[in-house]
Amino acid sequence: MRVIGAADDELTIFERSSPGRRAFVAPALDVPERPLDALLPETLRRNQPPRLPEVSEPEIVRHFNRLSKRNFDLDTGFYPLGSCTMKHNPKVHERIAALPGHSKLHPLQDPRYAQGALELMWRLQEALSEIAGLPHVSLQPSAGSHGELAGVLLTRAFHEDRGERRTKVLTPDTAHGTNPATVTMAGYELVKVGTDARGNIDLDDLRDKASDDVACLMLTNPSTLGLFEPGIEEIERIVHGTGATLYYDGANLNAIMGISRPGDMGFDIVHFNLHKTFTQPHGGGGPGAGPVAVSERIEPYLPRPQVVKRPPGAGNGASGPFYDLDYDRPKSIGRLRGFQGNYGVFVRSYAYIRSLGAAGLHEASQVAVLNANYLLARLRREGVAEYLPAAYDRLCMHEFVLSGAPMKSELQIRTLDLAKRLLDHGVHPPTVYFPLIVEEALLVEPTETETKETLDHFADIVAGVLREAREDPEIARHAPYTTPVRRLDEAAAARHPVVRQPL
Ligand SMILES: *Cc1c(COP(=O)(O)O)cnc(C)c1O
Repeated sequence: MRVIGAADDELTIFERSSPGRRAFVAPALDVPERPLDALLPETLRRNQPPRLPEVSEPEIVRHFNRLSKRNFDLDTGFYPLGSCTMKHNPKVHERIAALPGHSKLHPLQDPRYAQGALELMWRLQEALSEIAGLPHVSLQPSAGSHGELAGVLLTRAFHEDRGERRTKVLTPDTAHGTNPATVTMAGYELVKVGTDARGNIDLDDLRDKASDDVACLMLTNPSTLGLFEPGIEEIERIVHGTGATLYYDGANLNAIMGISRPGDMGFDIVHFNLHKTFTQPHGGGGPGAGPVAVSERIEPYLPRPQVVKRPPGAGNGASGPFYDLDYDRPKSIGRLRGFQGNYGVFVRSYAYIRSLGAAGLHEASQVAVLNANYLLARLRREGVAEYLPAAYDRLCMHEFVLSGAPMKSELQIRTLDLAKRLLDHGVHPPTVYFPLIVEEALLVEPTETETKETLDHFADIVAGVLREAREDPEIARHAPYTTPVRRLDEAAAARHPVVRQPL
């Protein structure tokens, strides 16, 4: 017999299986038994029982608990992943989202019996509209990238309605990978705009490329370099001058809430990542939401149906206002997904916005920017800049990019080695090798929810890893040492994922 002990941590749940072992035994049948043939045609039935592990309940609990501890998450440690806004997700949101009125609501419920949920969605639309500075919102898109697709489809509908056919979309060369992917998926030709020596959009390059076959410029401001575009008003004039739309990738909204608004900068369409800025737990492909806010001229094309508030006495028997789904949208780009979106995400983000209020959101952004600048200054004080200088030497917004180029040439360790070594210190590495235009890039976003002590500790760890590499670069080159798995072939893992045991 095989003895299963702590050392057998590597056993899969299938290897733990023992024939006949059960976690739960159903009570004896107290209704007449019916043959399966009467219930399901033969073609739909298995001819072999499913191959399931046979284990006891404690084994199941321990199996999943053990797996959960092998992952690194925000509730375990500091997670300064640039562009992803891994901020703390307040636990009260989970209590609210789990209330039966939210969690047990059927997505096809008649609006008459889902007034609370529709009101919450309508109020969330209003709040997002205020934050973006644009009058209309659709909650339908389910991720930032889905919001981008909505935005490009809205742009096409807008131009086609005016009898225009445009073929190109501009994105800066610092853009997040989803921007070019969206452009290609929507059937437009991608044209990249360069970045100047200060880290801003190269305005001359933009002027050259802004022709009347351009449909849209997709931009995030602050950019993925963590820098605010000082030329945004000139960019707006150039883009709108050609008749193109201006699309705002809202992934970096955490830097500017209540301070500046994309609508005021002249953007026509904005997406939000509720799972980044507005505290929905994310990562691992879990549910997200990428609502879009749009200007008056884009509104007719918004997805169908729209959540609307009808005045009292709108023919529905209600005495107060009535929250409804409006399907009567003849110019709409149509439905983007089943039902109305990931409702649990809406509940958490609405709880976040209401519990912080306007002043609280404003302060959250101020502290996010303060924390990033503090951490950058603190890293400099530790002498880190000699090997890991800021890619652009200016005040940053909520995140900043370091370049590991000197570290690579002088210490013979790469950004990837540093990132892996951080894992041994209980810190999730920042984003690496993005934006693509910075050599050996390290994109750091501390967020507003971390303490000064955590930021100081991070700066000390980075300085320590560089000191260690000066003595012996081999140590970082073979890191990590303390994680459940060591260095992986990430490209092979992504291309040939092995997610189940061969049968
Ligand atoms: C995360 C991100 C996106 C894509 O958002 P998803 O919700 O992950 O689809 C787009 N642009 C930027 C700058 C991002 O950081």
